[in-house]
Amino acid sequence: MTVDTAATAAYIVAALLFILALAGLSRHETARAGNAFGIAGMAIALVATLALALARGIDPVGIGLLIGTVLIAAVIGLIRAARVPMTGIPELIALFHSFVGLAAVLVGWNGYLEVEARGGAGFPAELLGIHHAEVMIGVFIGAVTFTGSIVAWGKLAARFSSRPLMLPGKNALNLGALVVFVALTVWFVIDPTLTALVAATVIALALGVHLVASIGGGDMPVVVSMLNSYSGWAAAASGFLLGNDLLIITGALVGSSGAYLSYIMCKAMNRSFISVIAGGFGIVASSGAEKDYGEHRESTPDRVAELLANASSVIITPGYGMAVAQAQYPVAELTRRLRESGVTVRFGIHPVAGRLPGHMNVLLAEAKVPYDIVLEMDEINDDFADTDVVLVIGANDTVNPAAAEDPGSPIAGMPVLKVWEANDVIVFKRSMAAGYAGVPNPLFYRENSQMLFGDARDRVEDIVKAL
Ligand code: NDP
Repeated sequence: MTVDTAATAAYIVAALLFILALAGLSRHETARAGNAFGIAGMAIALVATLALALARGIDPVGIGLLIGTVLIAAVIGLIRAARVPMTGIPELIALFHSFVGLAAVLVGWNGYLEVEARGGAGFPAELLGIHHAEVMIGVFIGAVTFTGSIVAWGKLAARFSSRPLMLPGKNALNLGALVVFVALTVWFVIDPTLTALVAATVIALALGVHLVASIGGGDMPVVVSMLNSYSGWAAAASGFLLGNDLLIITGALVGSSGAYLSYIMCKAMNRSFISVIAGGFGIVASSGAEKDYGEHRESTPDRVAELLANASSVIITPGYGMAVAQAQYPVAELTRRLRESGVTVRFGIHPVAGRLPGHMNVLLAEAKVPYDIVLEMDEINDDFADTDVVLVIGANDTVNPAAAEDPGSPIAGMPVLKVWEANDVIVFKRSMAAGYAGVPNPLFYRENSQMLFGDARDRVEDIVKAL
């Protein structure tokens, strides 16, 4: 068996492992196995690619550079992954996407320079046009992914404002950039000049910034999965340029699963898919006028403990603040205590609670909260009206009644957990500040709502003690 055949066989095994990884990651119970399949697939792919490079006579300096780069990158990756707090994972993922985009730009540029340096020699003349189109498409998708992901990183890490950028004629700008890119590609295929490639790269870099900057905080979850999808397509484009089948398959898997996830999230949030991928197309600026919702009421851990002790049904709706406070452990303890004393306790999970899909499920699983009491929004939303007490732990946008009741709100139409229908609502947070989308929350001023200020972990521990 030649090295080529062995590498092809290894690529097929790796591709199957990637499919098993995606299947595994779609359920809590199998997520760990899914991760293991993905790691095994990537290890096989790396070894096969290295063996292939050696068999094809890559020079020793080249192989040294390759191994050195992989080792350095692996060490940096391990250190970063070990240090990142759970709340920092979304921005880390956005950064990873930006690297894939940058790599696709470099592969595209390299594909152009390599063929040009040889004056097209050694490349079938009838395929040159296709090669040049591949270069342009790879560079374009890569550059949009690169800058778009950097802006997403900035928004998620709170380095940039989460408010949408509203440039005049923003839709025309996006469409114009696309038309110019198509014209440049046609030009480049006919006459592959450096000017066209530079112009397309600059336009794509600017488009990436504009597309993501135009999207408001409430729609960021879709943007992250959309950039995940773009990074897949960028990798697939690189696969075509490098003639690497596995990269094409893997890129297409990531691209299509990311696109499907974006679609599911748009549906869950009642958002138009086209509007989000087209950089907030159709979104109009809200007046920004703050409404006067009146006075809020405050509670204490002792009073909340008393309320809980007398309740027969409790729903806990966690949000990003639970992740910041790492309150999942005392929350799990509180749940255990309440259930032992006969109270029915369930969790209501909004699809975009936290800062990444499945964020709350991961935290609750980590704290060993049983899966069967952790319900999706659709499964629990009709039960709030029959519930005694709702504990809103560090959630804000996902429980904001304005989404359901105020058509002028920037989050209007987004389905939310109807916590306000319960008898009593306790909101755990540190201040009256707005959530990630920057929208004030009238829930805090409702007759049946009380605020419990402070770090969510401390407050839940106080309640456990009081119980
Ligand atoms: P929000 O981000 O809307 O609000 C979180 C709340 O937690 C804040 O109001 C904050 O208030 C409070 N908080 C922060 N730290 C603590 C702490 N230590 N103790 C107690 N409270 C704390 O949370 P949600 O989960 O409801 O909504 C998620 C938002 O993030 C949505 O807008 C969603 O679109 C967006 N998003 C989601 C992504 C995803 O994939 N899930 C990705 C990107 C964005 P205070 O400062 O007063 O304490």
